[in-house]
Amino acid sequence: MVASEEKHRFRSHKNTSIVKFAGVILTLLTISLVFFKDKFNFEASTEIHQDTDTSFLDKVQDFNILGKDKCPLSVPLTPTFEKYDLNNIFGNETFIDLAAEKLSGAIKINTSIGDKPPSPKENIDYWAPFFEFHEYLEQAFPLVHEKLVLEKVNEVGLLYKWEGSNPDLKPMLFMAHQDVVPVNEKTLDQWKYPAFSGYYDKEEQMIWGRGSLDCKNLLIAELHTLEVLLEQGFVPKRTILLSLGFDEESSGVHGASSLSKHLLNTLGPDSIYSVIDEGAGFSKITDKFFIAYPILNEKGRVDVKITVDGHGGHSSNPPLSGHTNIGILAKIISLMEDTGFENQYSEQNSLWQFLECIAKYDDELDPKFREVILKRDVSSYYKEKLLKTLSSLMEFKDLIKTSQAFDIVSGGVKANALPEDAYAVVNHRIDFGSSVKEVLERDLEMAKVIAKTYEYGLAMEDKVIIPETANGMIKVEQFGDAVEPAPISPQNDVYDIFKKTIYNTFVNGVMKDNKDDEITFVVSPNSVTLNTDTQYYWNLTSNIYRFQFLEFNTKVIKSLHSVNEAIGSQHHASTIGFLYDYVLNVNEYHS
Ligand SMILES: [Zn+2]
Repeated sequence: MVASEEKHRFRSHKNTSIVKFAGVILTLLTISLVFFKDKFNFEASTEIHQDTDTSFLDKVQDFNILGKDKCPLSVPLTPTFEKYDLNNIFGNETFIDLAAEKLSGAIKINTSIGDKPPSPKENIDYWAPFFEFHEYLEQAFPLVHEKLVLEKVNEVGLLYKWEGSNPDLKPMLFMAHQDVVPVNEKTLDQWKYPAFSGYYDKEEQMIWGRGSLDCKNLLIAELHTLEVLLEQGFVPKRTILLSLGFDEESSGVHGASSLSKHLLNTLGPDSIYSVIDEGAGFSKITDKFFIAYPILNEKGRVDVKITVDGHGGHSSNPPLSGHTNIGILAKIISLMEDTGFENQYSEQNSLWQFLECIAKYDDELDPKFREVILKRDVSSYYKEKLLKTLSSLMEFKDLIKTSQAFDIVSGGVKANALPEDAYAVVNHRIDFGSSVKEVLERDLEMAKVIAKTYEYGLAMEDKVIIPETANGMIKVEQFGDAVEPAPISPQNDVYDIFKKTIYNTFVNGVMKDNKDDEITFVVSPNSVTLNTDTQYYWNLTSNIYRFQFLEFNTKVIKSLHSVNEAIGSQHHASTIGFLYDYVLNVNEYHS
């Protein structure tokens, strides 16, 4: 048990620590800021600032003043549960091995799914490996299956309920998905250990295989946490729910969608205390500086289909304009790609908070970069400069604007026949401050330019904008489902408990044997370009945290959805440590 003087010790040495940082930043699915810094140096040295408000800005040169209220440190919140024992999770090899074995067993069952899996009602056989997976869970977590109520939603979805003693409290909800992405046959020989071996290398302390990071690790950690709490005789005041989807890798249309509907029907809107699902973790920037970065919002997404519907004919006599319908489609694609989307400074983007933390605590960060981050609020010059720098970097460019990627194109049937029609589908990930409507309208504008230039009609969905011409018609329409950018989770009292719990797991778990006073740890929200199953849960709570307590390093990031996916057994245990702390803290301090 960690007493309160322990907390104070950490806080006070935080206050006196001299922070020294350099180096590498990992955001979720991004690589390194070494590259970022180099690039920035290059950019900064090739451009001289000629801004007219220099005199004003010179007055605020002091970065300490600019960064004063940014990225405040916090204090660890330690549970006082009588059986509380974080050391058993972090320092006990037997426990770590046991946790690794449980994860290993889960990886061995191949629950990979394709792009458009059938619904369980349509084809239950498709989901057979998932039923085997359910049996495995039953055997691996006997107490959970004895004490909790388990409901199967849409046949394959799992909803566990641990009834709390106080029915007036909103339940806390944990999520994860049972499915994994398939393994590319061509890469099978590149795996160090077979992809579905779940091989646990005790020497190296690594568990290998598909799903070890995305995200059977989280699913197993959640169940294991509840198993530990049950073993310790813990009685929750607040009901604990576990909602495990089965097709996250194909947008959750059968799994998370039906699980969330079921929860909404039985509990009603805004009925959940908080949701934790897969997301980012924490990273070591230098030996002295660590940052955890839960994801508090997600970009939206929409696919748009653009069809050029005209006339065919013999290809020996092509159109007067010189462009077939395929050519016209190519013009639209080309215009859209050349134009791109503008960089946006959306207030809703958590990336700014993340960068502020880096600017404040990384003393070795290029001063020019620090300047751009910290002064962006006082001068539009710096705001532009920051956007420009980020937009030139592969890892950041899509966090500051709507993206577009043409992923499907089709047209023509025969080499000597003019194509009657042609279509393309473009995938957009929508910027935090934008909307599905705005993106559709922009694509329509692009198509309009080509329609006018080459004399085609134009329609958006069923609405005719330019009547059909002798050449034909260009149609712009939404293709499949769309998702608006997620509402940003508020940094309220619920977030405060969550954040202080992260501090606790770090200080009293990860760093329990490290007495280095100079280490600084911060928690900052960040953004991602991807979507998770949480897109279906917005009506249940605004407190959605996409976070797994796990160290994200280059190795981890490279292996996501790729070859040699593997997780350190210590890292897996740390995820359990955090969930254990969080359940206890929420029950103690917020119940
Ligand atoms: Zn995932």
